[in-house]
Parts: sequence; structure tokens; C-alpha cells
Amino acid sequence: MPVLVSACLLGVRCRYDGSHNIDQNTIQIINKTPFIPICPEQLGGLSTPRYPSNIISGDGKDVLNGNAKVMSISGEDVTEFFIKGAEESYRLAVLSGAKKAILKKRSPSCGLATPYCQTYSGYGLGVTAAFFINHGIEIIEAG
Ligand code: SF4
Repeated sequence: MPVLVSACLLGVRCRYDGSHNIDQNTIQIINKTPFIPICPEQLGGLSTPRYPSNIISGDGKDVLNGNAKVMSISGEDVTEFFIKGAEESYRLAVLSGAKKAILKKRSPSCGLATPYCQTYSGYGLGVTAAFFINHGIEIIEAG
């Protein structure tokens, strides 16, 4: 069964600043496992490079509930791009049968504990991480 992987962990230059977050531990895992690279922010329609974004008034689960939004540092509301990216990433999980995802730490899309949000603890779920949890996809953090 394939595993979904944040593409930036594989060396794909899909980060907001046009760089990557290559992670050798992740590379070792996918050398032995079928994998599908995903970049939720690109799949949602955002360009690369792009302005970085923060989740306002909550975290990724609040975005999915309609109680928070995602704003780029340029002031653009990019909430719909982030939600669409989560949905399209999950579409690939359904099509491929993937039940696990290796996702980049700290990202407001992929992270399980992103600091780019507004929660009591200062950390929260990224939008795609929250979507995956809601749909039973196991997440392994990396990077
Ligand atoms: S952390 Fe996720 S959304 Fe950000 S560049 Fe990597 S794959 Fe794309």
C-alpha cells in the first residue's frame, strides 16, 4: 500500500520560497515503499514561490469547521486554496488506497504541531493534517 509524502521532504522545490526540505530518513523509507508525493499548497492552486501563510483565529481543524481562516503575509485570504489542497491530497489517498502519510513538521498545511496558527498552546494542526485525521489517515511527522 503506498504512502503519501510531503513532496518537499523528497527534495522537490515546492516550498513557499522555492526551496525544499529534503529529509534523508524519509528518503530511506520511500526507497522501500511505494509512495505518492503531494504538496497540498500547490494542489490547492497556489503558485511557487508564494507568500507564506498563517492560520488566523485557530488551527487547521478550525479552518475546516469554518471558524478560522488562512492569510498570506501579503494580506490575501488563501483559505480556499488550503482547503482545496487538503481535499485534493485526500483524493490521492482514496485513489491509491494509502492509509498513511509522511508529512512535513511545522507547516500550516502539513504539520501536526504548526506554530503558524493561533491557539492557546501556540501550536495546532495544519489544514491538510487536520483533514487527514478527520478521514482516518495516519500521519508520521518528518523533517
Ligand atoms: S510542507 Fe506541505 S505544503 Fe509546504 S511545501 Fe512541503 S509539501 Fe508543500
